[in-house]
Amino acid sequence: KPLVFSGVQPTGNLHLGNYLGAIKKFVALQENNDCIYCVVDLHALTAQLVHEDMPAQIRSITAAFLAAGIDPSKHIVFNQSAVPQHAELAWIFNCVARIGWMERMTQFKDKSGSKNAEQVSLGLLAYPSLMAADILVYRATHVPVGDDQKQHLELTRDIAQKFNIDFGGHIRKAGLGVDVTVGDEPVHAYFPMVEPLIDGPAPRIMSLRDGTKKMSKSDPSDLSRINLMDDSDAMSKKIRKAKTDPDALPSEVEGLKGRPEADNLVGIFAALSDKTKAEVLREFGGQQFSVFKPALVELVVSSLAPVNGEMRRLMDDPGYIDAVLRDGGKRARVRAEKTMKEVRDIIGFVQ
Ligand code: ATP
Ligand code: MG
Repeated sequence: KPLVFSGVQPTGNLHLGNYLGAIKKFVALQENNDCIYCVVDLHALTAQLVHEDMPAQIRSITAAFLAAGIDPSKHIVFNQSAVPQHAELAWIFNCVARIGWMERMTQFKDKSGSKNAEQVSLGLLAYPSLMAADILVYRATHVPVGDDQKQHLELTRDIAQKFNIDFGGHIRKAGLGVDVTVGDEPVHAYFPMVEPLIDGPAPRIMSLRDGTKKMSKSDPSDLSRINLMDDSDAMSKKIRKAKTDPDALPSEVEGLKGRPEADNLVGIFAALSDKTKAEVLREFGGQQFSVFKPALVELVVSSLAPVNGEMRRLMDDPGYIDAVLRDGGKRARVRAEKTMKEVRDIIGFVQ
């Protein structure tokens, strides 16, 4: 079975973008894959060091995974800090990757923004190196993420490829790896080339206030996002107030060009109802937002209410959530250590 890995940071309230870009796909992938889903708490330190509510944040992301339908007995659900092999491999990748690769990442540029180098953590720069380690410490091959993470997955491939080439002779000597061709080059590869799973009608959910910005936990305006924990009144109000243009919906997808807010709302409708945007427009083309928005409210509320209710129920039982994480951590450590033993051998560390 293909091995799937993905993670979500415990950095605030989960929103519709996290649900459609990540968690909904996690649930669907369980059927035909071996899945590892991680609350990436080490990543949460990169933008802000001290979090007073860290335990509650970790538990709430875990609760969201379970509430959405992830089965922790068939797959693995755990928090990153419970498996120190992630940080160990990240160090090695820090030495494989080049500073220039990290400085080119748009997430780094966005999150470091106007701050100067004295104010930005080294961890924020090295974030993609830890992300590569999260995935490759299991030698996972498929990674469901939102479109904003595409660049980091390309970097993961670059890191894997450089490791494979630089240590090619060592990998062979250790009796590990397989022969593959990268481009036209024959390479003896230890780490696989990961495939991002990003497609779908709405790979990047945009802010409800500005169709050119991604919906984000860190946007100061709560009206910009639909939180998984919002009640139905809040969801309804946010969608009714969502920015739109005055025109009716087009009947063809091409008509959404240059209309980012309309495109976003149609994309959300399509993703939640497992339809294409063309199918949604076949139903709503020619209609005003005064007709489309109430239908969208109903769909959003009916899709998220069960998750929301189950999340609240689970959050009342932190003992159960912690037991799930401990069990997942134990199983993840066994797998991660198997890789790390081989990596230490490849490098030549005495063990
Ligand atoms: P932060 O602002 O702390 O980075 P975030 O909302 O980006 O928070 P992450 O924990 O970084 O959340 O990302 C978790 C997953 O959600 C990733 O797969 C990411 O690609 C996806 N994701 C985040 N925002 C969106 C969005 N607006 N549309 C689609 N997917 C998204
Ligand atoms: Mg993010």
